Amino acid sequence: MNYPVGCMVYSFMRPNILKMEGYVPGEQPQEDGYIKLNTNENPYPPSPRVAEAITEVLRRGLQKYPDPLATKFRKTAATVLGVDPDWILAGNGSDDVLTIVTRAFVGEGDQIRYPYPSYLLYSVLAQLQNADSEFVLFEKDWSLGSSFWKEKERLKLIYLANPNSPSGTMISKDVIKREIEHLRCPILIDEAYVDFAEESCLDLVREYEHVMISRTLSKSYALAGLRFGFLIAQPHIIRELRKVKDSYNCDALAIAGATAALSDQEWLQETRRKILATRERLMRELRGLGFDVLPSQANFVWCSHPERASKEIYERLKARKVLVRYMNYPGWGDGLRITVGTDAEVDGLLNSLREIL
Ligand SMILES: *Cc1c(COP(=O)(O)O)cnc(C)c1O
Repeated sequence: MNYPVGCMVYSFMRPNILKMEGYVPGEQPQEDGYIKLNTNENPYPPSPRVAEAITEVLRRGLQKYPDPLATKFRKTAATVLGVDPDWILAGNGSDDVLTIVTRAFVGEGDQIRYPYPSYLLYSVLAQLQNADSEFVLFEKDWSLGSSFWKEKERLKLIYLANPNSPSGTMISKDVIKREIEHLRCPILIDEAYVDFAEESCLDLVREYEHVMISRTLSKSYALAGLRFGFLIAQPHIIRELRKVKDSYNCDALAIAGATAALSDQEWLQETRRKILATRERLMRELRGLGFDVLPSQANFVWCSHPERASKEIYERLKARKVLVRYMNYPGWGDGLRITVGTDAEVDGLLNSLREIL
């Protein structure tokens, strides 16, 4: 046999799949002992109600299919957010929600727009649809120029991570409101980090049918391992999106855990308070070490050092078992994205940085 197994099958596969690279998530080291500040997980355990709710589901057994519409979750989330349950679509992580929205709106040859640098999954979702990606560079001050908001022939969907990753910066609700008044194209505002920010665009969903908001329980609710996210949009949009999702996209344990997590808003406020306090200290100390640090509205900070290569700092930290995210954006530049950990983890990071610099 002269060709690798699978080679013949490639001629049947969609060329856009063969061409694309696929999303590369941040490292999840298999050994213990790392200070892990690279994937924006919450350093604190979730509300104790989560384990209780999951245990209760296990006690009752997993023989039956879960509720396809995660009704309990939607009711709880609706109360917390002040919308009706039929404004909410639950997903297996917010990545699932982004996939559902993309599949519903974007076909082959259509166009998706997003800012750059931002969440790398958006371009992967475009490639999966064999759609074109148009990225609009952030301005120097992390605002977005007018080209981001322009209508275009085959433009079917705009993504906006707000707060943005990796920068931790935000486009204000006032600016977004002003721009979308003149825009018909649907916009998905990815609010993965909004619980760490000063404001949300939730109000805009009530007012505009072309605004959708995605949220996740992975970051602020400390449930990255459970996989749960959701979309907020007007009910006639949600109704169509339900056709696109897997019938049972959220499992019974995740639905119960996510519902319990949202019901404990006191836990969220307490955790938020701790993370914001540590974030301010981390930014201050990094600046003290000579780093350029962007003001952050998320649970991470974006920084670089004027005299030292970010890649080298990343590697030296890793050798000391401190993991941060080194990001290199072709055509834009590189830097370090550092998750806000516990105070002890941040102290470990800062001590290592003092040795390195
Ligand atoms: C982490 C993250 C998500 C995905 O979250 P999951 O719910 O874990 O899939 C979505 N968007 C952005 C910008 C993120 O950083």
